[in-house]
Amino acid sequence: MKNNYSSIKLVNEMIALCKDHKFSIRIVGSETIKDTGYKYPIYKIVINPKNKINFCLIAGVHGDEIAGPMTILAMLKEPTKYFSKNIRYEIYPLLNPTGYDLQQRNNNDNHDLNCINKITLKSDNYTEIQALTNSIKNRKYDALISLHEDLTQDKFYAYVFEEEVHPLYRKIISNTSNKVEILKLNKIYGANSDGNGLVINYHDYSIEDRLYHQKQAKISLSTETPGKLPLSKRILINLSNLKTINKYLLLHYSKAIY
Ligand SMILES: [Zn+2]
Repeated sequence: MKNNYSSIKLVNEMIALCKDHKFSIRIVGSETIKDTGYKYPIYKIVINPKNKINFCLIAGVHGDEIAGPMTILAMLKEPTKYFSKNIRYEIYPLLNPTGYDLQQRNNNDNHDLNCINKITLKSDNYTEIQALTNSIKNRKYDALISLHEDLTQDKFYAYVFEEEVHPLYRKIISNTSNKVEILKLNKIYGANSDGNGLVINYHDYSIEDRLYHQKQAKISLSTETPGKLPLSKRILINLSNLKTINKYLLLHYSKAIY
């Protein structure tokens, strides 16, 4: 499905909603169109800054995977439904605004932003990644999710990181299986899968891989909503998964707070 929601329209709506609800939204970096100097800002939203339970959400790493950023917009429209007052949320709602407007996976210079390595941390071609890594430096998250889509799929799967079998990831699969079929392959794009929708500990330098291995995220995953389904359904799947993570965090960490 083509996207008729420009990045400026999306971001302007997010800014207005953040203002209404007194959430912090600020620019943490930018991507410059080199021929003209035109700058696309990269934004960060923080909700409940003083809370100890930390949940990081990243969306729009791949520009044509629009359900992620649209999910963040949906959350901001109904904050009491999707944000717990006991959790600190740090949200990067659209990491790749140029790719989003161009309706393509990579950014305007045709670089894939889902990679943290020596090159992307230094090169001018990855200022979006540097905006993110500078902003999250030294932060620790109880959970981190990067919202992706597989545009070729009508089934759901996820990349997850764990030392021991983690029930939350299985819960996400079982809940999502009520809404959409799970991709039950033993290999997904060459990576081993558990045969029930989870690619576990696949080391590819993705954002979720790096932050897990740098011990910045205890729970770290990337969900792949099926891009062949209607956008509204993909957003619903994301919203439901985010609620599942909220519930888990509250159950497991609230004792430490009270
Ligand atoms: Zn993606």
